[in-house]
Amino acid sequence: FTIPQPYNEPVKMYAPGSPERGALSAELGRQMAGQVEIPVIVNGEEIKTGDVRDVVCPHDHGHVLGKVHMAGEKEIKAAVDAALSAKAAWETMDWQERAAVFLKTADLISQKYSAKINAATMLGQSKNAFQAEIDATCELVDFLRFNVTYMEEIYANQPFSEKGVYNRLEYCPLEGFVFALTPFNFTAIAGNLPTSPAMMGNTVVWKPSTTAVLSNYYVMQILKEAGLPPGVINFIPGYGSQTGDILFTHKYFAGMHFTGSTAVFQNLWKKAAENIETYISYPRIVGETGGKDYIFAHASADVDALVTGIIRGAFEFQGQKCSACSRLYVPASLWPAVQDQLKEKIAEIKVGPVTDFTNFVNAVIDEKSFDNIDAYISRAQESSDAEVIIGGQRDKSKGYFVHPTVIQAKTPDYESMVEEIFGPVLTVYIYEDKDFDATLDILDNTSPYALTGAVFAMDREVINALMARLTHTAGNFYINDKPTGAVVGQQPFGGARKSGTNDKAGSYLNLIRWASSRTIKE
Ligand code: GLU
Repeated sequence: FTIPQPYNEPVKMYAPGSPERGALSAELGRQMAGQVEIPVIVNGEEIKTGDVRDVVCPHDHGHVLGKVHMAGEKEIKAAVDAALSAKAAWETMDWQERAAVFLKTADLISQKYSAKINAATMLGQSKNAFQAEIDATCELVDFLRFNVTYMEEIYANQPFSEKGVYNRLEYCPLEGFVFALTPFNFTAIAGNLPTSPAMMGNTVVWKPSTTAVLSNYYVMQILKEAGLPPGVINFIPGYGSQTGDILFTHKYFAGMHFTGSTAVFQNLWKKAAENIETYISYPRIVGETGGKDYIFAHASADVDALVTGIIRGAFEFQGQKCSACSRLYVPASLWPAVQDQLKEKIAEIKVGPVTDFTNFVNAVIDEKSFDNIDAYISRAQESSDAEVIIGGQRDKSKGYFVHPTVIQAKTPDYESMVEEIFGPVLTVYIYEDKDFDATLDILDNTSPYALTGAVFAMDREVINALMARLTHTAGNFYINDKPTGAVVGQQPFGGARKSGTNDKAGSYLNLIRWASSRTIKE
């Protein structure tokens, strides 16, 4: 069959009284009342290991949504065996048939399970309705639809043949299994990391984040309903180091698709290096890691657009996007106007549980994250190199709430200008207008990351100069827009330097990493 033309899933707005709002509210009620038991899934079989952890709401950590069964050594090894056994049938299936499974998954999410997967993302990961919609429904559906198209384009890319010679490229899957290690912050990323290698004919062992396991379990169920054969993706919630130790010492470890912290990624890369002689091939290691994403404002910037970009970029989903703006450079000439608007607009932001749709900022993911953010704010409150100028309130008594916070750094290398915090904390450095060039050098050199960045300026020559000067500072570069919210099919996403291997998610550049091709001359 012909692959349909991909399109971006329309975003539902959840206006009061709308049918989608009604369906979502009902589903939130159902999920809050129930207790889900989340199993390990190996070869299509649901396994209850009995080693359980509570799954709680970050906005109300006393509220248990269910329990997750943690995989142990036996289940992890069984998951690898299942992936290897499922390989032969899956990789020899027509690619159109594989595509059909993922297109069906996209349709099921869009037409049948949007409320369910959004509600699980709201309750389990503390996203508001809009953030859940653009993630768990729209971005996940977009990944599935667009990746199928990219797969078709890759397969169609063939070498030239001369008269009497017939050349072709066969895009084979990797020889072994792929490990998908997924983060809590996007249900779409959690869904994309195992499905994109699977689409290309690979079989996968997927370890979800235990704090996102509810929505991720629903993704597994929808894949099954769409016809994904048993063993193609095996779901093993569990312990990081135990899982890593087993998978990274396996002969058939063929690749890893990762989103998470820089430290974990580097450790796993070292583990792969230590075991390199064990593997039958060089593993494909694809990862998206940390960020210290910036907004740089020039004196010609439109202040209204800049302030909107700052607030949405820094505080949507509590700043827990790898792409979130967490350092801001503003010229002294613009700062009074920017500061006034920031104070006014941030004061209007409502912070609270996801169940109240008017809350823009919800809880951060867990206690560890809360304590880390809390420590950065405390140190800024005590430091002579920084001052907390907006927000700073935080409270973990019922849920892990941190109010949108702005720190003003007096030195451009103050810790929160350099280190990733992963919370609703923005640090601003005010530069003298005459120090424009020197500030760009500082921006380029104070952070090891290069994921996203945004510049705000109305002067075209300045924009061109910034684009040229900041080439290596961001894999996703925005002009007069917030540095978050890349749309699949429109802005392929990924960063360089210590932010990842820059194999852009949601593009052929990523999918091609999951093929090991054979050239045939006949
Ligand atoms: N793709 C997301 C964005 O553009 C961020 C992904 C992440 O946080 O890893 O905002």
